[in-house]
Amino acid sequence: MQTHDVVVIGAGLAGLRCAVELAARGREVVVLEAGDRVGGRQRTDRVDGFTLDRGFHVLNTAYPAVRASVDIDRLKVRAFPTAVRVRRADGSMTTLGHPLRHPQLLPATLASGLATPRDLAGLLRWFGPIALRPRVAVTRADRTIGEGWDAAGLTGPLRTDVLSPFFSGVLADASESTSDTYVRLLARSFLPAAAGLPRDGIGMLPRALASRARAVGADIRVGRAVSRLRRRENRWEVRALGEGRLLARDVVVAVGAEALNTLIDMPVPATRGLQTWWFAAEEPPASAILTLDGAREGPIVNSLAISATIPQAAPRGRHLIQATCLRAPDRVATEADVRAQLSRMWGPGSASWELLRRDDIPHALPALPPPMRRPSPARIADGLYLAGDHRETPSIQGALVSGVRAARSVLGATVRR
Ligand SMILES: Cc1cc2nc3c(=O)[nH]c(=O)nc-3n(C[C@H](O)[C@H](O)[C@H](O)COP(=O)(O)OP(=O)(O)OC[C@H]3O[C@@H](n4cnc5c(N)ncnc54)[C@H](O)[C@@H]3O)c2cc1C
Repeated sequence: MQTHDVVVIGAGLAGLRCAVELAARGREVVVLEAGDRVGGRQRTDRVDGFTLDRGFHVLNTAYPAVRASVDIDRLKVRAFPTAVRVRRADGSMTTLGHPLRHPQLLPATLASGLATPRDLAGLLRWFGPIALRPRVAVTRADRTIGEGWDAAGLTGPLRTDVLSPFFSGVLADASESTSDTYVRLLARSFLPAAAGLPRDGIGMLPRALASRARAVGADIRVGRAVSRLRRRENRWEVRALGEGRLLARDVVVAVGAEALNTLIDMPVPATRGLQTWWFAAEEPPASAILTLDGAREGPIVNSLAISATIPQAAPRGRHLIQATCLRAPDRVATEADVRAQLSRMWGPGSASWELLRRDDIPHALPALPPPMRRPSPARIADGLYLAGDHRETPSIQGALVSGVRAARSVLGATVRR
């Protein structure tokens, strides 16, 4: 039986990025993926002419790891407006926009009543230090985002109606218990670029990465669920569907947090769930801006008319809207709940929207409580390495960085052998 240099288990962003790095440095790499295609949590389907990602994703093109991994221009990213539309408890709708990117929204932003002087001062105290000197802010003791906002005096409507609902959707965390340092770094990462999506869906990102991995010689095999990993003398034996047994000098386990303990003996990192409802409309929705329910009257944390920015996401003359809810075993949103809230957020016309698909993603993101900086070495045993967003941060950036770190750890150990 041939012994491979490296077997990477999982072809999500982390495993693919790791394979690129290793193959580019001359290692013979086999990637085994359980699913029928690459991408893991980043997956796009065409359904009746609509482009549906599995859950609502956003690509921040300013992420350094994304820029270092793929040719962004080829992804044809379309940027969403850097603004939010917020439903208030009295039923009114207000809009807050980035003053430099959308100066036309400035009067609405000032009139919104959401940016009170007290909250703006709090925002400056919370965000200013990390915007100016990220290194210093990162080395400071960490706390939860809720504690961070309290300490900054950010306690008014800007927090309750905008920041808290917005980040609850981004982090799948309504309890404000994520690392404050991470959330501030995340907010900072959006300063240089607007967030958007590849024209043909988020799945284009892992596809581009897989092309790059293949171009440098990585062998990516799909439909190859690994069922067992065992140390045999000084090799790893990998059992996989459709492969039987493979031997490898090094193995990188790049599966999601929830699948870790099926292969190795270690505690499963906590994860958080999301649920996205996809609707088709015949009439254009009222706005192209991300809509939040500041009053939190229902399960939806955000909703967006994707086709208002990316017309190709819907067939000609039709429109695509997503509505995302947090998903927890004890909190299951019903279609009636979702439609009632959509009517409050988008108006009664939403009653005619056709439900295209509902995505339930129980392990959408690993939880990241404080402290953000904790030891998470890639190498966990002789010849055994971990990659995945659960090793870094719950994001595209985190997954890609973890892949590079695992690869460098493999390369370093090979040199020492
Ligand atoms: C709905 C949703 C929205 C998101 N939105 C954003 C966003 O806007 N911005 C952002 O930065 N991040 C976002 N993320 C997070 C981002 O998508 C993830 O952090 C990233 O894709 C994780 O990549 P990964 O390689 O670590 O894990 P995964 O993508 O989970 O890849 C792991 C792979 O391992 C495979 N695997 C598992 N077990 C086995 C086995 N036994 N044998 C072989 N293969 C196996 C899986 O099939 C999978 O392909 C979102 C995630 C979700 C789910």
